[in-house]
Amino acid sequence: MGPVFVIAVAFVLFSPALYADSGPLIELEAVEAELMQDVDDEQRLSLLLRRGQLARGLGRYAQAKVDAREAIELAETLGSPEKRGRALHLLGTVKAEQGRLAEAIDTFFEAREILADTDDHAGHGRALMAIGVAYLMAEEYRGGRDYLEEARALAETHGLDGLKLAAINNLAIVAQNLEGMEASLSLYQEALDLARAQDNQPEVARVLALLCQPLVETGQLDDAEAACLEGKDLLDELGSLRLRAGVGVNLARLRLAQGEPDQAEAHLREAVDLAEGKVPTVERDAHRVLYELYEERGDYRLALEAYQRVHALNESMLAEDRRRESARLEAQYELDRSEREIELLELDRQLAAVRMQRQRWMLWGTGSGLIILSFVAFFIWRVYRARAQRGEELAARDPLTGLLNRRGFTILADLEASRGQREGYTKAIAMADIDHFKPINDQYGHAIGDTVLKVISDRLQNNVRGFDSVIRWGGEEFLIMLPRVAEAECFELASRLLEAVTRDPVETEAGSIPIQMTIGIAQVTDGFDDAVARADEALYEGKRAGRNRVIVAD
Ligand code: GH3
Ligand code: MG
Ligand code: MG
Repeated sequence: MGPVFVIAVAFVLFSPALYADSGPLIELEAVEAELMQDVDDEQRLSLLLRRGQLARGLGRYAQAKVDAREAIELAETLGSPEKRGRALHLLGTVKAEQGRLAEAIDTFFEAREILADTDDHAGHGRALMAIGVAYLMAEEYRGGRDYLEEARALAETHGLDGLKLAAINNLAIVAQNLEGMEASLSLYQEALDLARAQDNQPEVARVLALLCQPLVETGQLDDAEAACLEGKDLLDELGSLRLRAGVGVNLARLRLAQGEPDQAEAHLREAVDLAEGKVPTVERDAHRVLYELYEERGDYRLALEAYQRVHALNESMLAEDRRRESARLEAQYELDRSEREIELLELDRQLAAVRMQRQRWMLWGTGSGLIILSFVAFFIWRVYRARAQRGEELAARDPLTGLLNRRGFTILADLEASRGQREGYTKAIAMADIDHFKPINDQYGHAIGDTVLKVISDRLQNNVRGFDSVIRWGGEEFLIMLPRVAEAECFELASRLLEAVTRDPVETEAGSIPIQMTIGIAQVTDGFDDAVARADEALYEGKRAGRNRVIVAD
């Protein structure tokens, strides 16, 4: 149930909520029209941010990214850190919504760093929150907690009530995932008090719905009854189907605990009606409780029916997941393609602007016309070249380290798979993650963190064999493709690499920083995806076992 709520929260959080009911399409057209006018840079910056946000709201991610990137540059030129931070936030949000969480987190970090030095406390707080939520979306609860706490503290210092409420809600999700139901209770309670104090009914209803389950599960039946019933009534008023159906299931659990199976059954039937065909997770939960109830009652025919429904729903959800995943991949491909198209469109627009400018200059004096013409030609050539280069870079390489990125890996894996098959050699995948990297960022700043990443990636690159490939997999995580390695050689090979990379501290402007790293390595036996997953598992085993070591996957 956790991740679902996280996503719900994430969307609330990321919504710009600036144009709640004005038609965004109409507004987008208006903004487009304004952008075509002769506006100064300040106005252009505001308009770009606006168009980016509108485009994002409409799911036009490619356009939103183009606008955000231009706004980032323009804000830099104009010396406006607040706007630059906002533009970065927008860019990060789009990446998060596209499922590119690692990239999104990096971008949010950049936004935070900039906004922290301004008076834009709300912007700073939103950036912190966005980092936290992105971590939660990646199910990195521990990492997320730090930033949510920071967002909360900031909200308290500056009296930002909405931010504070959102931070507490997300912290409750963290507590629920890390420490269990009990631990989340006091946070939900706090969120509830705050929502009531703010007289925010939808939020009150939402928190009550979230609170209902842990109260039932921890056996606090009186409190549960109060919370669940109030939540149910409010949600009925507000018409929120998903939460309402979920509360029904929890009410049923409560009635069962109170020894009222008939009432429980009624709640479950109602929950099934509400959820059927719309909220399969809740529908499944309802049938699961029904199954327990009928079995208890000795009605095995109904119990079997309920069990079959649970099974069927599980199956169809799995199929749905698979369908969604392939749809996502297709969409991703389409997106990348349209992104390039939009960049070209944007380029055309710039060229049109240059041409207009040129015409104006021509009017001033034909004498300088020739010089201007060659200048324009040079400019056009340079823009084209830069775009073309960037397009390719974006495709396969990570700009910070110059290593291949995930997309690069996909291409490589295809090549490697066919070559490996043809030539019949064994291969391995290693996943290497820098230990305790976050404290480096925290202590020395993001720029020094970047330097460390660059040095480490160079060292990796310089210490693998000529035919190995190093890929920047995520923030401080590297994947290394190792063709022609037998299983017995894996440990030694990875250990040598670890030793070579971490032997010397990294020298930076801020001093010399010692580095440790953990590596998980897996033989490729059943395709790359499987090997990556196993190497990752081994990596985490290494982390749990104390870090700075190599673990070979089974
Ligand atoms: P562990 O030993 O468990 O791996 O802890 P860790 O702190 O290394 O791992 P964690 O996942 O908590 O933190 C990774 C950090 O890496 C968080 C993120 O800010 C940072 N990071 C990710 N990408 C970049 C980047 O491009 N530049 C910088 N400077 N930091 C980055
Ligand atoms: Mg790490
Ligand atoms: Mg990591």
